[in-house]
Amino acid sequence: MARRKNWEFAAKSVWGPLTEAAKSQQVIHYEKLAPHMGTTSRNVGLGLEPITRFCIDMELPHLTSIVVNKNTGKPGKGFYGFSLGSISEAQKRVFEFDWGNEINPFAGISQTESTDTLAKSLYVNPEKSQEVYYRLKARGSAQLVFRKLILKAYKNKCAICGLDIVEALEAAHIVPWPESTPQERISANNGILLCANHHRLFDSDHVKINSRYEIVCKKISTTSNYLSFDQASISKLSGQVIQLPARKNLWPDPILLDRRFHKNLKQ
Ligand SMILES: [Zn+2]
Repeated sequence: MARRKNWEFAAKSVWGPLTEAAKSQQVIHYEKLAPHMGTTSRNVGLGLEPITRFCIDMELPHLTSIVVNKNTGKPGKGFYGFSLGSISEAQKRVFEFDWGNEINPFAGISQTESTDTLAKSLYVNPEKSQEVYYRLKARGSAQLVFRKLILKAYKNKCAICGLDIVEALEAAHIVPWPESTPQERISANNGILLCANHHRLFDSDHVKINSRYEIVCKKISTTSNYLSFDQASISKLSGQVIQLPARKNLWPDPILLDRRFHKNLKQ
């Protein structure tokens, strides 16, 4: 049986040509990228998809918008990064951006390993997170692995409210990325799946989680500008226990929760 092509590996192979084209403010044709990917120009879009997703997730200009059809001068049909009307605007942002500081996000991906297979291996063996982190090299793919792992661990549900719309879910770090050790950066024990709303409330300490997995809400003073609606929607969570992964070895580490809770982070 033929192995399925690893499109992240294909993406890795065109990151260089794409950023070079961007630096020289040139569009690039599908035909030119196909040999780098070892595929036909029809399939180039599949290898561009991980880059498009990466740029959206990292809020970077849409690098793949500069890949166009030789005849039409436009991106192919499968391209979803933006509406067709704003291509020239998207390309302008790509040309103006300094790509020199961006590491190839798929640098650590091999032909046989993708962010999917690495997330699955960390789901089974969470203690290997440091080893996988070092293998990945680039923050982009490390964050992709972390997101996939946390989504899987929490079965695509916000640990606070149970929202299960994948597009609105985010893998939150307990101890933030810059203060995390290599072991903690992509460890399930340093993550919680939260919806975008609860992630913001968690990051701003309006909603905290203690080492017993209970939600503790910030008391809002009655003289503040908060509406009673805010007060009610936040404080009703107080005392509830978050939804935890079925596998206990994927639960947040109480020590890390405690560190976060008391803001006793390494600076
Ligand atoms: Zn939520």
